[in-house]
This record gives sequence, C-alpha cells and structure tokens, in this order.
Amino acid sequence: MASPLRFLKTRWSVRSRILASMLLVAALGMASANAVAFIIQRERTLADVDDRLVSRVDAARSVVTGEVPTTSTTDAAPATPGTAGFATTSAALEAVLARVLPSTNESSLGIIDGKARYVPGIEIGFHLEDDPAFVDRVVAEVADGSVRLGTSVSASGQWRYIATPIAVTGSPEEGIYVAAVDIGAELRDLEDAFTTYMLVALAALVAIGLVGWFVAGRLLRPIRQLRAAASRITASDRKERIPVVGQDDVSELTATINDMLDRLDTALTGQRQLLDDVRHELKTPITIVRGHLELLDSRNVSDVESTRALAIDELDRMAGLVDDIESLAETQGAHPVRVLVDVDDLTAEVFAKASVIPGHEWALAEVARVTAPLDPSRITQAWLQLADNAAKYSDTGTIIEIGSATDGIEVEFWVADRGPGIPLDARARIFERFGRVDGSRGIRGSGLGLPIVAAIAKAHGGRVSLVSSPSGSRFGIVVPVAHAEASIHDTLPLPNGTVAQ
Ligand code: ADP
Repeated sequence: MASPLRFLKTRWSVRSRILASMLLVAALGMASANAVAFIIQRERTLADVDDRLVSRVDAARSVVTGEVPTTSTTDAAPATPGTAGFATTSAALEAVLARVLPSTNESSLGIIDGKARYVPGIEIGFHLEDDPAFVDRVVAEVADGSVRLGTSVSASGQWRYIATPIAVTGSPEEGIYVAAVDIGAELRDLEDAFTTYMLVALAALVAIGLVGWFVAGRLLRPIRQLRAAASRITASDRKERIPVVGQDDVSELTATINDMLDRLDTALTGQRQLLDDVRHELKTPITIVRGHLELLDSRNVSDVESTRALAIDELDRMAGLVDDIESLAETQGAHPVRVLVDVDDLTAEVFAKASVIPGHEWALAEVARVTAPLDPSRITQAWLQLADNAAKYSDTGTIIEIGSATDGIEVEFWVADRGPGIPLDARARIFERFGRVDGSRGIRGSGLGLPIVAAIAKAHGGRVSLVSSPSGSRFGIVVPVAHAEASIHDTLPLPNGTVAQ
C-alpha cells in the first residue's frame, strides 16, 4: 500500500526544495502575523465596546441627575435623583432612552418593574425586548442594586451589555437602563478585513512562488552548468574547464572543481607516461632475450649455457624493474604512517644495515639528536637506496659516509661517496622516472631508485638534496622537524607505543 508520506521520499530537486522552504516560511510568517494581529484587534474592539457601554451608563446617569459625567466607571453608584427634577422613575427612564441614543450595532432598553417599557426612538439593528429571557436575566442580575456588565449568547445573537438600576426618590417603580452592543456584528467587519488579508496573503504567496521559482532557477543555473560540464568531461576529453563567473560560493566551487580536474588530468597524464615508460623499458630486455633465443644453436652446449644465463639475467632485471615500479606506485599513492622517531637511533640502525653492503668502507660521520615525525620504514628504504647507489656507482674500496644532521627546522639523512659525481646536465634528470646518467658507466639499474627516494621525501613534506663534484656526491633526504615539536607531539604515538609529551 502506498504510504501517504511517500511524496516526502520522492527525489525533490534542489530548486523545488528551496521554493518549498521559502513558501513554507513565508506562509507561516504571514499566518502567524495575521493571527496575532487578529487577536490583538479583537481584544481592542471588545475593550472599545466595554468603554462605549460604560459611557452610555455615564450618559444615562447624567440625564437622570442633571450632572455632567466626570468619570466613566461602572463602580459609580446607580443613578439617583438630583437636580433634573424627574417626578417618577418612568419619566427619568423615558428621558434617558430619548436622549442617550444608541449608535451602529447598539441597542438599549428601559425596564420598569421587570417589564420592558422604553425603547429608543430611532431605528436600531436589534431589539433587546424581543428576548424575554434576556430581560429576565438582566432584572435578576441588577436586583441587588449594582451595575452589571456582561455577555449574552442566545438565539437572538451575541451581545455585550451593561445594565444599571434607575431610581427616583419617592417613586416606587424600579427602573433599569440596559445598553447592549451586537458583538457578532461588531467583529464581522474585523473578520471581513482579515479574510481579505488572507486572500491577499495567498496571492502574495503565489507571487513569491513564481518569483522564487525564477530566482532559484537563476541561482542554480551555474550548478546545472557545472553538472553538465562535469558529465561532458570524460577520460578521453579531459581538457574542458568550467568557466568561472562572478565571485560567489558557486564560482569558488567551480574553481575548486577546475583545480581538481587539473590534478586528475596531471595524475592521468602521469599514469599514461608511466605506462609508456614501462613499455619502453621492458621492450629492451624482451628484444634481447628474443634475439638470443632466435639465434640459439641448441646443439651447441656453450651457446645454450650462455643464452640461458643471459635470459635469466634479463628476466631478473625485468623482475627488479617490476619491483621498483610497484615500490614507486606505493610511495606515490600512500600517505606515510608517521610516528615520532629518534633520529639518532634511526641513523644507527640504517648505518648497521648499509655497512653490510660489500666492497666499501662505511663510516658513520654524524648523528642528529632530534625526534621527528617520520615513517621509519619508508625513510629507511629511501636512505638505503642512497647507500646502495653510492656503493654501486663508486669504486670498490672507497669510503662511503652516512650521517644525519639537523638545524632544528629540518633533518637531513645523507650518504656521501667518493664516486664520479653527477654531471650538471644530468642532476635534474636522475630524479625523474627512468632518468640515468648517459650509459651509467655500464652499471645496471632501472632508473627508478631516485624517483622513489624523491617520492618518499615529498610524502614527508620534504625534498631531496644533492651536492656533487667529480670527486664524489652527497645525496640527502631532507624532511621538516620543527612543526612536529608543536603540534604532532601530542598526537603521535612513539614507536614503542607510548605517546610523546
Ligand atoms: P638506477 O641506479 O637504477 O639507474 P637511480 O634512480 O637510483 O636508478 O639513479 C639514477 C641515476 O643517477 C643512475 O643511473 C646513476 O647514473 C646516477 N646516480 C645515482 N646515484 C649516484 C651516485 N651515488 N654516484 C653517481 N651517480 C649516481
């Protein structure tokens, strides 16, 4: 069975949602303003009615007493004979009815001895004497001689009334003056006004809806364009960028998306480049092995032996290349898992590992006594790569120095050899993928070692350093250390599991 709330779950467009919220808020605002205004106005009208009724009693009293009324209060004493000189209560009441005339929606009545006797001499909207129950009620209410202000709801209507006894000394009659206002009629004007207001508010809501739909559409247009452009940009056509218009949130979003597209483009280009490089690098050993196998004389044992050795050698090289590519991909993609590391301990460990590489004399030159936020396994990998290169490219028996140094801001993990150095024009190239010094003096390599080192340094927010001359090179991995003291100390666990304070 379809739930009645199903429409809430249907996919509303942002435009519809903005519009619905706008209309809801506007409708709530208008309705509550209307309701509050109506209540206040109604109270005011009712208070006015009471004031009018009280003023009628004051007027009646002054007719009877012949005095000018000074106060308007129902607490005043009932009308008593004064200088007006009425002989009887009937005469006084008749005079009151004749002189105190009801206005619109008003009526009055003079009662003598419990019977309706006098009505105003003018045209009035409703007649109190037509409701005998009301007359009886009023007579009963003022029997104790007090002035009475009350509300009567009956088939005749909803009346607010005031009743006051009228008595003239010496006259045995008991007179009552009653003035009433038809509240229903009095409030009708107000209700009509508020019905009109509601209709106008409804029309205003329709207008707000139309304008809101248009404005929301205009505001959201850049986002629609953004979506259209984003869906147009495919892997094959990555060059399109979304035009940045104006200076607002949407234009900032557009700029951010453009930046993201740039980065994706760079990453994809890099990936393609890597694939091209890898294909190129693998082609050579494959061609060599294939060439030798084609020319192989299977009856010639020594030929078989040498081709086998060559094939194994080339395959090993390919395996090494694949390992290096994997290592490079890992370092480029992953974030280092950093912990606070004692650089002096790390230096000692790396020195111990490097010094078993045969053919050279290894020396621990200096040790930085500092802690730094590092991924120790990655730094070790990069540092050993530098040590391996130093061993590979410098003459057997020469000294290779290892050390770490700090200026308090950065820490450098370095390796210095007495090798041939790097020619000036090759210094940038060797840090690029498959970049090697021409010929590399016949020493085998993939050209991926230094790019891996550079990627690890970069992942640590650092860089590689190189000082080289024909009598030797000093390669270093430089990573920041200073900011770690302030912010990372509190959050990074030490390698042994404790947290640095
Ligand atoms: P690979 O050693 O596999 O060729 P690398 O990226 O580690 O790749 O090194 C790139 C090139 O830089 C090497 O081919 C070599 O020519 C040069 N190189 C690296 N380290 C040294 C060094 N310590 N001394 C002289 N040349 C070096």
